[in-house]
Amino acid sequence: MKTVKLKNSNKEIPIGKIVCVGRNYVEHIKELGNEQHEKPVIFLKTTSSVIYSGDKIIYPSFSNDMHHETELVLLIGAAVNKATETEAQKAIEGYGVGLDMTLRDVQNELKKKGHPWTIAKCFDTSTVLSDFISSEDYKLNLTETITLKVNGEIRQNDQLSKMIFNPTQIVEYISSLMTLEPGDLIFTGTPKGVSKVNRGDKLEAEIEGITKLTCEVK
Ligand code: MG
Repeated sequence: MKTVKLKNSNKEIPIGKIVCVGRNYVEHIKELGNEQHEKPVIFLKTTSSVIYSGDKIIYPSFSNDMHHETELVLLIGAAVNKATETEAQKAIEGYGVGLDMTLRDVQNELKKKGHPWTIAKCFDTSTVLSDFISSEDYKLNLTETITLKVNGEIRQNDQLSKMIFNPTQIVEYISSLMTLEPGDLIFTGTPKGVSKVNRGDKLEAEIEGITKLTCEVK
């Protein structure tokens, strides 16, 4: 069973579903030539794809274009359905940083056919998680910077304030479509700067003042 570790506590929380938001930063929408929608784009990832800081990302044989997408990840701590703003805020139990590794070549083929993105998003090791900080211990104000370095070079670096939909709005919206339960994770979308990784690359993702992760591509 895959779990999330909360810093400053012995708690290990079993992961439920992993809900992801696509296209939540304007400049990232532009860099991939996508259209901006009024509602967030929503898709799911699998718990079997989860690995942790220090683990290795395995390049699948069916892709030659794996990209990093660095994202703020929300940990849900309460069951919510059709949450109000206050309920949505309260339902966020913690924050982490994650990598939504994406097979861009596979995803582009799937998009052309109008097929779901599952094959591009759910391969083993495609979801990398840091430890999480409790929302009781840390108040997120969205002025924090999210950063990804590849082999020490900065590739992604933006303030969380650039999100089109903020964490509360995301929880409100998703809970209007499906019940969120304790242990569910929400990937909130990636800022600009996504790019291809190669075997041997060392990735370091961080949300300033909160948490970080490192891993290597194999
Ligand atoms: Mg993503």
